[in-house]
Amino acid sequence: MVARVLVVDDVDANVRLLEAKLTIEYYDVLTASDGPTAIRIAAEEKPDIILLDVMMPGMDGFETCRRIKADPVTSHIPVVLVTALDGREDRIKGLEAGADDFVTKPIDDVVLFARVKSLTRLKLIMDELREREESSRRMGVSADKAGRLKGSGGRILIVDDNPRQAEKMVEVLSKEHRPSVETDPVAGLAAAKGPNDLLIVNVAASEFDGLRLVAQVRSAETTRHLPILAVVDPADRPRLVKALDLGVTDLLTKPVDAEELAARARTQVRRKRYTDFLREKLDYSLEMAVTDALTGLHNRRYMAGQLQGFVSRSALSGEPVSVLVLDIDHFKAVNDGFGHDAGDEVLREFAVRLATNVRAVDLPCRLGGEEFVVVMPGTDMEDARRIAERIRRDVGSTPFRVMGGRELLTVTISIGVAACTGAGDTPEALLKRADEGVYEAKAAGRDRVVVRAA
Ligand code: GH3
Ligand code: MG
Ligand code: MG
Repeated sequence: MVARVLVVDDVDANVRLLEAKLTIEYYDVLTASDGPTAIRIAAEEKPDIILLDVMMPGMDGFETCRRIKADPVTSHIPVVLVTALDGREDRIKGLEAGADDFVTKPIDDVVLFARVKSLTRLKLIMDELREREESSRRMGVSADKAGRLKGSGGRILIVDDNPRQAEKMVEVLSKEHRPSVETDPVAGLAAAKGPNDLLIVNVAASEFDGLRLVAQVRSAETTRHLPILAVVDPADRPRLVKALDLGVTDLLTKPVDAEELAARARTQVRRKRYTDFLREKLDYSLEMAVTDALTGLHNRRYMAGQLQGFVSRSALSGEPVSVLVLDIDHFKAVNDGFGHDAGDEVLREFAVRLATNVRAVDLPCRLGGEEFVVVMPGTDMEDARRIAERIRRDVGSTPFRVMGGRELLTVTISIGVAACTGAGDTPEALLKRADEGVYEAKAAGRDRVVVRAA
């Protein structure tokens, strides 16, 4: 995959130099010479990463970064700020503006490419998550309980054999987070498997090989997604590059600067929350794809897939499969008389009674509205009729409590029953027969069970 990099600098020579270096490394390069143009190109072209000069006339790099990060269309694009060498204040201000990283001028090629590579890799993961989330939303599944994705309150594990350095980091981080320390890599790896938002590893440790720990954390299933902030010795370039190669998320150079540590930890914790949030939403979306939101029963989509399987197996084995189609009588009168919310309460209570009146292997589903289905594998028509009668009695004999117990409603249902007749029968035909049974029950006065043979 060819990553596209947007280079932003007001000095033309700087743009040309970076463009040349990146092109040699097979990146696609876009350029801009001021903040507003960069913002426009970022929104239109959606590059994979933005290298942004801090010092620009008019809108400076901080403001440009802030705006890129404030726009949902571009907020996920990693921004690397290009700052002056002694620009400690700039770096902190940049991270506060939402920048993901920075490199100092004059730009060190190895560090630049390592960071561009690690950030584009991270962006690929994020893009995939966002895309999967998008597609489940298009399937009509929404899960937008927008989480507040703060960068504070993180559980941060520090693995460091240098007590003074570890102590200093704890002191800085405890202002906003919950840090803990392990001095031994074995205990560190075990602790990393707990619920953490960030792991800080001293890869310049003298007592253990921090890079080995990084590799172990990256390869273990439970810790694969944990962000890692590596403390490195800037003079030890091979280890620094190796750390990035192994997949550390970010670097912190020795001696550890308090404010830089605080800012980088905040960025990483926020990013972890974001990816967790997307993953959770994804799991939730997958569950929503097979579950009816109001009642928690399976939905039509899920039922259709399962029924197909049961009917096909029945054709081969001769094992019976039955279905019940259940429809609440005069349900419209509940809505009209007590309101839509009371109607919903009736549907939920009905779902509970349905689920508690069938076996674990049966599939109670809500087809939509006040129509439900139970698929019953291994059940012949006569047993199905008996079960339908039991459900009908249980629903009709005990009134439904709604509106905080203020109203008691008597609810009755009409049920159609059909059983699979072996080879040649289809799920559609089976459901249709049960549906005709419901129709017949309604016509005959409701509150009854009608069996429809093929
Ligand atoms: P019948 O005895 O012939 O089945 O009459 P009915 O009133 O139960 O059936 P009808 O199909 O005429 O009306 C169904 C009503 O169910 C109409 C619709 O507004 C309502 N409904 C459908 N889905 C929901 C829902 O999710 N919640 C609530 N509260 N009402 C719903
Ligand atoms: Mg009805
Ligand atoms: Mg109806």
